Amino acid sequence: MESSLASQSLQQQNNNQQLIYYNNCPVCSSINLSKALSAKDFTVSHQSFEIWQCNDCSLRFTQNIPDANNIGTYYQSSAYVSHSDTNEGLINRLYHIVRNFTLQSKKRLIEKNCSVQNKNLLDVGAGIGAFSNAMKNAGWNVTALEPDDAAREKALQKFSLQMQLPETIYQLEKNKFNAITMWHVLEHVHELHKYLETFHRILNDDGKLFIAVPNYTSYDAQLYKEFWAAYDVPRHLYHFSPKSMETLARLKGFTVKAFNPMWFDSFYVSMLSEQYKNGNANNVSAFINGLISNLKTIGNPKNCSSVIYVLEKN
Ligand SMILES: [Zn+2]
Repeated sequence: MESSLASQSLQQQNNNQQLIYYNNCPVCSSINLSKALSAKDFTVSHQSFEIWQCNDCSLRFTQNIPDANNIGTYYQSSAYVSHSDTNEGLINRLYHIVRNFTLQSKKRLIEKNCSVQNKNLLDVGAGIGAFSNAMKNAGWNVTALEPDDAAREKALQKFSLQMQLPETIYQLEKNKFNAITMWHVLEHVHELHKYLETFHRILNDDGKLFIAVPNYTSYDAQLYKEFWAAYDVPRHLYHFSPKSMETLARLKGFTVKAFNPMWFDSFYVSMLSEQYKNGNANNVSAFINGLISNLKTIGNPKNCSSVIYVLEKN
């Protein structure tokens, strides 16, 4: 990827860690960049990271991020609830109820947008496999990729799902898939352009690409600022706006066909953000702020705390 190679430089740090400093926007390569804010890693390292903004495509991105070989240490936390599977505690019980509802609405969205003659689905960053399993049960032939060893092991035990490492994406067959899904995954991927180019190759001409990512232009993001939980630095490398996602899609031969809201993310993200901002979980404020965010989303899904973008090939 010439463009992405040109847009970043590696800086050697004292602790021998390779950090990536972007001189160009990681999406559109613009040099028209400025610092937006500083945010803290509240879950693992408690380090601060700068978030920069591209003044052309409006992407925000985390500056001085660890490279792909060194970011693993920033994922070592039990707070990563998407990999947990216990039913203890009210929050966890609620999380599982919401997850089941969300699984069903994701399935409906896919079956609404994709012809079901070819039911080959690729799920990238499949976690412990709850979504992949739901689609398998609905008759889809699912290929699931996941980098975390423990999550892959869990998927095998719980759902008999044989997942593969993300690197295998580059070996997948041309035009094979009718649906490709990335649920809160693209913001974690170092090889952004290479992934989009690969999706273009392995998706068939009628296929759809579903990308769910947080939206920093949402009400809750603007309210909580540096405490907004979905900045989640340094694990989130990119912080998308609808405009920057449309730019990325266009540059890679796709068009954004639809924007879909994720209603529960505003509540969940507000709950965590309250905790980061005030040191305790004020669930009443979180609920009110999540609700306001959702009210602003009614009739305008581009305002949602997290958006599912449905992309199709040009
Ligand atoms: Zn840009």
